[in-house]
Amino acid sequence: MPTLTEKKSARPTSRAQGRPLPELIFGDLWEYDPSPETADPKLKARYELFIGGKFVPPSSGKYFDSINPANESKLAEIAWANVTDVDAAYVAAQKAYDTVWRKMPGRERAKYIYRIARLLQDRAREFAVAETLDGGKPIKESRDFDVPMAAAHFFYHAGWADKLDYVAPGRKVAPLGVVGQVIPWNFPLLMLAWKLAPALAMGNCIVIKPAETTSITALKLAEILQDAGLPAGVVNIVPGFGDTGAAVMGHATAAKVAFTGSTEVGKIIMRSLAGTDKKMTMELGGKAANIVFDDAPIDQAVEGVINGIFFNQGHVCCAGSRLLVHEPIAKTFLAKLKTRMRVLRVGDPLDKNTDIGAINSKEQLGTIERLVGVGIKEGAEMFQHPCKLPSKGYYFRPTIFSNVSMSHRIAREEIFGPVLSVITFRTVDEAIEKANNTAYGLSAGVWTDKGSRILKMSTELKAGVVWANTYNKFDPTSPFGGYKESGFGREGGRQGLLDYCKLV
Ligand code: NAP
Ligand code: MG
Repeated sequence: MPTLTEKKSARPTSRAQGRPLPELIFGDLWEYDPSPETADPKLKARYELFIGGKFVPPSSGKYFDSINPANESKLAEIAWANVTDVDAAYVAAQKAYDTVWRKMPGRERAKYIYRIARLLQDRAREFAVAETLDGGKPIKESRDFDVPMAAAHFFYHAGWADKLDYVAPGRKVAPLGVVGQVIPWNFPLLMLAWKLAPALAMGNCIVIKPAETTSITALKLAEILQDAGLPAGVVNIVPGFGDTGAAVMGHATAAKVAFTGSTEVGKIIMRSLAGTDKKMTMELGGKAANIVFDDAPIDQAVEGVINGIFFNQGHVCCAGSRLLVHEPIAKTFLAKLKTRMRVLRVGDPLDKNTDIGAINSKEQLGTIERLVGVGIKEGAEMFQHPCKLPSKGYYFRPTIFSNVSMSHRIAREEIFGPVLSVITFRTVDEAIEKANNTAYGLSAGVWTDKGSRILKMSTELKAGVVWANTYNKFDPTSPFGGYKESGFGREGGRQGLLDYCKLV
């Protein structure tokens, strides 16, 4: 680690090119030469619907563009499924369920799911590049987190498929039938894996709609489903917009619907399905608190808070978008946080050194800008990363708001961008009250040296996940889901499987 005003002594790339070595002030960014990932994402110019095991054109003949948010270039055309196509997908799924998938022993289903996991691992780098191009997330995240974790979900659930008698001890379980699923754009492939793997292991068939801005890796996974020999119709993928999503959620054939997305759309779906006998799970928004006490390992906590909000540009439902910091250390902590934030690299998502990539879409960038404007108007103090942003594409500077009070909108509303609101507290009870003072309840983080305090906080925080002295850690064995307006139902672990079966 360079110290204050240390002169940079070795910088191989620059030396090799004979450029003068700049003076390094602590907190400044080392200048690296570009290091873009070069693996071929093997994109097609046009992606069709995936229905009944085949790629088929949309009945309307309509396609929409998927663009690269890092430079606004068009990547591919995506087929737009309408009600007729969604209907065809449900017919194919019901047929596969009745004739093949439901009857197949779990140990046989497991083989297909293992194959999917292995094929995804084989093509991991290709998928990582495609994910980064389509969604804007840094390659090091799609390469080291999204794709391996998606494969891990398939492996984990393959392991369950022949052990379903242990999902609900003392009870037998049975699949539900055809399930309809809709997913968001922040973890396109990973959310797909979270949805497909448990449903398949349990013996259900699927109709799923990816988000309109990020359909490519879902349709690439369809290639893997074909290569794995998955029986036709077991999984059907119908890209499109909100109207396609509504058709998937509202279809009469769906025995269960699983939705991940905003609380706003989740409520629309719940309203429209009220009175039906469809089973439902909702994974919705969040406004998590990362709570740092004065006895916390400070540098570790700084790293955790940075990771909690700036990971994936803050496009994370469980992002630690509120920092609750103990008053005695607030000043020091904020100073360290700003120093750490200044050395984050913002820019080309394909560059292996990039920490913060592109905002997923123009619309999302507009939402972030609007809410940050509200924060400024409400009188919070703003500190932004001083970096230069690329001239094309959708980017937003990592931002920290201090002097935030609980009544500020930036402390209450989900911004879904790289924006942290800092609030202070004096006592444990005040921290719990402030953390719980939100309509959401998806996750929280606690940083302290005291085990007893961790236990108390994790009991009293109304959040589906509470991380202690770490943040944003995921594992397929661990159930994930919300309280209050963050939704209901769990994904992952034994609990996640229970949401895809009936007890008989
Ligand atoms: P969104 O606007 O709610 O969209 C989610 C999905 O629903 C998209 O595929 C969307 O299609 C579709 N959709 C839109 N209107 C619909 C309707 N009336 N009926 C059925 N489907 C409809 O959310 P988003 O902006 O994509 O994602 C961000 C949100 O997801 C955040 O609030 C985040 O917290 C939440 N999220 C939650 C979790 C969790 O596990 N709890 C995980 C990830 C994200 P289009 O793409 O065409 O709009
Ligand atoms: Mg895109």
